[in-house]
Order: sequence, then structure tokens, then C-alpha cells
Amino acid sequence: PVRVRFCPSPTGSPHVGLIRTALFNYAFARHHGGQIVFRMEDTDRERSTQESYDAILDLWRWLGLDWDEGIEVGGPHGPYRQSERGEIYRDVLARLHESSYTYDCFCTNDEVVARRQASGSKMQGYDGFCRDLTDDQRAAFEAEGRNPVVRFRMPDGSITWNDLVRGDITFESENVPDFALSRANGDPLYTLVNPVDDALMEITHVLRGEDLLSSTPRQLALFAALVELGVAREVPAYGHLPYVMGQGNKKLSKRDPEAHALAYRDQGFVPEGLLNYLALLGWAIAADRDIFSLEEMVEKFDIGDVNANPARFDLKKAEAINVSQMRLLSVEEITHRALPFLKAAGVVGDPVSSADAQLLELAMPLVAERINKLTEAPTMLGFLFVDEADFERHDDLDDTARSVVKTAYDALAGLHEWSTAAIEEALRVALIEGLELKPRVAFGPVRIAATGRKVSPPLFESLELLGRDRSLARLHDAMS
Ligand code: GLU
Repeated sequence: PVRVRFCPSPTGSPHVGLIRTALFNYAFARHHGGQIVFRMEDTDRERSTQESYDAILDLWRWLGLDWDEGIEVGGPHGPYRQSERGEIYRDVLARLHESSYTYDCFCTNDEVVARRQASGSKMQGYDGFCRDLTDDQRAAFEAEGRNPVVRFRMPDGSITWNDLVRGDITFESENVPDFALSRANGDPLYTLVNPVDDALMEITHVLRGEDLLSSTPRQLALFAALVELGVAREVPAYGHLPYVMGQGNKKLSKRDPEAHALAYRDQGFVPEGLLNYLALLGWAIAADRDIFSLEEMVEKFDIGDVNANPARFDLKKAEAINVSQMRLLSVEEITHRALPFLKAAGVVGDPVSSADAQLLELAMPLVAERINKLTEAPTMLGFLFVDEADFERHDDLDDTARSVVKTAYDALAGLHEWSTAAIEEALRVALIEGLELKPRVAFGPVRIAATGRKVSPPLFESLELLGRDRSLARLHDAMS
């Protein structure tokens, strides 16, 4: 069966590129009826934080990218935090060492650089100095008190794989220097733990960002050794997803504000919107179609269709896709999703009183189709939920506008029935016919007087919901 992994490193605030990678893994696995393993790559103790771990979990849960095995849910290949797998790595490292796939290396970085310079070599990385140390040389290094790192012995020849996104890729081994698998203090490095975990967790397909492509020849060589040792059953297939570019055709980086994935949730995107947009970074469901659900992506996803060229991140487009996805949600669903924002803004209480719940049920249909982000719900609806004492107008009215409001007040004060239709009729007669005003000039001041804002839900409906007393009181205040 297909088995893929989510394997973020919990360092810093999670990046949208991370989600794009997770999404493509998800679509690939679910399309093939496969399984998803979620492990946390927290070997870098200095940079990994619990805060980042929690943010990643929050993000995955908000997006609804579920997994079958791994952190939080457990499974047969645990533990799933690399920081808890030290013994496993030490054991594999010992087996590699026994079979001479690796060697102890005592060189310092400065020594390697100095040797490279002295020989005039342009090669980067380790030069193999410690590959075949004599016992005496070794003893001399140890006598100096040096602690070795464990280095992998790259085999000769070339390394080729058929990349699922890019086709055949070949590296000559001479361009891939022997690399360290552990630090001098014994701590295992990413170069070791990532392939070892893929082996032990029986990962069949590694789909990850292009930034990791240069580490793939090393991992393939290590994998071959793991297969020979019986640690790995088979070498997974690799596919490298295109870079995500930000402003100025540079890789989208943590410095770019649009790179922070949780910000989309906090700014009121719906997860459907963010996922749909991220799916477009390297993939298309059809030439003429931008809007689709996660289920549709799963149904149609083929890793062979992923475009190897860099994808450009476009915030405007992300926002537009989000709006389209919001329009597909029912009013009830939008209400449910907007509730945390309404509570946080203090528009409704927590828990929501039954009066507020009732008003919300009447008011949400007026705005559900008008808001582009969930955060706009409290802005648009706030005026309905505040007492007169707390009501604040955000826009001043000039003399002309105040006289329009006065005419509106007089027309509405005499209404027998307080309904949308009656309110509309009265205001049209008084302002459009009576004062011969254009609708914008007529209704703008009334809107500002009643809702406090230039942009609001539809005016007549808003006045009906606001009720006669509150509406008239606000108009009266605005007249003077
Ligand atoms: N933990 C790595 C990262 O977050 C991913 C490694 C991989 O996908 O192989 O960059």
C-alpha cells in the first residue's frame, strides 16, 4: 500500500509551503487509498519548540488534513517524535558502523577548508581524509581529545532516480561528499534520522519541497545501505514539488508576511479557501477551472501532473479563491465559522445568549454573501448588537446629510408597520421622490446614522432588525 508522511520540523511559525507539501501528500495518499504517517522532526533541539509543535497541530486540525498514524494518534511505528527515538537511531548507526558503511571522522571544519584551499580544489564539503585512518592516526586524534562524528562513506559511481515530478535525475558521487550522520556529541543528524524513519515507518513515497532535492542522492545511498542491512524493505520513490516564489521572484520565506499559514485562519480565511489556493501552486484540476473541493482534488490527483516549474504565490488570488469557497458554504455554516470571531470581538457573548442567537440567525443571511473573510462578520454586524449607550458612529455627517437624515426620521416615525417593505417604501417616497435624491445620496447618510458605517448589510433589512426604537433613536441623534 501507498504510505506517505507529514514530517514538519517544529521550528518557528509554520509556512504555507509546508501546507502545500502536506496537501499534495494527502491528495496522493487518499487518491491511492493509502496511509499517512505524521511524525515530528524535532531533532534540532535548539530550534524546536513546543509552541511551534502546537501551532502545527492547530493548523493541521483547522485544515482538516487527517492522518492515520503518528503523533497524537499513535500507531505501530512509534514513537513519532524524533526527539523520543534516540535509541532507535543509535542502534541503526551502530549497525551501519559495524558493516563499515560509515567511519569516524575527527576533522574540524577549518581543517577541511584549509586542505581544500591548499590543493586548489573547488569541491565543496568533506574530502574523505578520515576514510581510511590507520590505528596510529586514530590513536593520535583520540589522544588530542577529539570526539569523532560518524560519516557515511558515499559509494563510487552515479546516483540516479526517477523523480515523480521531474523525471530522471542523476548525481555523480564525486559531487556528493561523504556526509555526517551524527554530531561529535553523538546526537543524530537530520541526514540520518529522516531516511531511517522513512525506512522504519515503511514510507513508499516521499513527496517534498525542491529545497531538499540536493539531499536526495545522499539519502538514496544511505537507503541502499539500510536495505542491505535489512533495516529498510525498499527504497521509496521521491518526488520534489516546485518552489513557491514570493515577491520579486524570490523564494517565499518566513520574512514574507503571506508565508505564515496560521495568519490565514486568524484573518478569517476558511480552510477550504486556503487549501484550494495552495493546490494551485504546482497543480491544476483542469485548464479552465480554479475552484474545487479537497474531495475533488483527491479524486483527480496525479503526481505526474505536477508542474516542476516554480509556482508564484499571489495573495490577491488566494483571497479571491477564498471568497469563492465561502460562497459555497451555507448561511448556517458561515454562522458557525464566524462565531469565534463574533465572540472574540465581543459582538456576542460567550456563551451566546438566546436573544443574541436569535438576532444572529436573522442577521447572518444579510451578510453571509457579502463578507470576504470571517473577520468581516463582526465589523458588519456589530451595530445590531450594541446598546444605544455604546453605539458609536464612525463617520461624521455634514449639514446636507443631516437634513436627509431628518427627512428620513420624519418619514419613519410615522410608520404603522415596521417591516423591510414598509421602511423601503417610506424612505423612497420621502428621499428619492420627495427630495429628488439619487439612491446613494439618499440612503448613505441614513446608513451611517443607523449602522455607524459606510458599508453595512442591506439598509432596509438592517433597520427592520434594529427595530423601531433603536433606529429612530440613532437617526435622531445623527440629526443634531
Ligand atoms: N522536516 C523537513 C522539513 O521540515 C522535511 C524533510 C522531508 O520532507 O524529507 O524541512
